[in-house]
Amino acid sequence: MPRTRSPAGLATRRGSPYDGAMLDHLIKNNRAWAERMVAADAGFFKRLEHQQAPQYLWIGCSDSRVPANEIVDLDPGELFVHRNVANLAPPQDANYLSVLQFAVDVLKVKHIMVVGHYGCGGVAAAVDGKRRGLVDHWLHPIREVHHAHRQELDAIPDTRARLNRLCELNVKRQVVNVASDVFVQEAWARGQELSVHGWVYSLANGLVTDLNVTVSQPDRT
Ligand SMILES: [Zn+2]
Repeated sequence: MPRTRSPAGLATRRGSPYDGAMLDHLIKNNRAWAERMVAADAGFFKRLEHQQAPQYLWIGCSDSRVPANEIVDLDPGELFVHRNVANLAPPQDANYLSVLQFAVDVLKVKHIMVVGHYGCGGVAAAVDGKRRGLVDHWLHPIREVHHAHRQELDAIPDTRARLNRLCELNVKRQVVNVASDVFVQEAWARGQELSVHGWVYSLANGLVTDLNVTVSQPDRT
């Protein structure tokens, strides 16, 4: 990408003559996008300014190829989103828990989707035996899933297929985490309508597959 010349005056405004210029194309994109939205619906931003009432919470991977709103073709305001490396829902993570509580208690979303994706670098990194530092700790829950399903996974000869299966198993495990969380359990106890779903997304064709692990009520066993 060419480094464009900085417009006059930018240096004093931004500290470096290049800081702003490097992102000019994004600001330009933003202006064009906002214009298109208003052209299609004049009151769009005015409405969103005063209220957000999404029905869905998306818990997905940070991977740039898995953009939440685009995949399910929803506008701003329609999807509450939490993304992290390898779409984890760890019960001790304050960031995820804050999002979950706000979505369930305040926004009262009706559906939570944990969305993994085939070819997830986070899932692969969890089990390749290489050390990377902090992220190794973050990815530890995936190694636990790997350990719990060792027999099934070892029986899959193809590495890619084996990792893709681990992506699915990870989603299922995170669905259990979300569904067993106290905020979700309390919502069900007070009669709130709420379902937790497990999906996996394919980078190869853009399609989501429902893993059929939906939980819509407390486990009474
Ligand atoms: Zn990923």
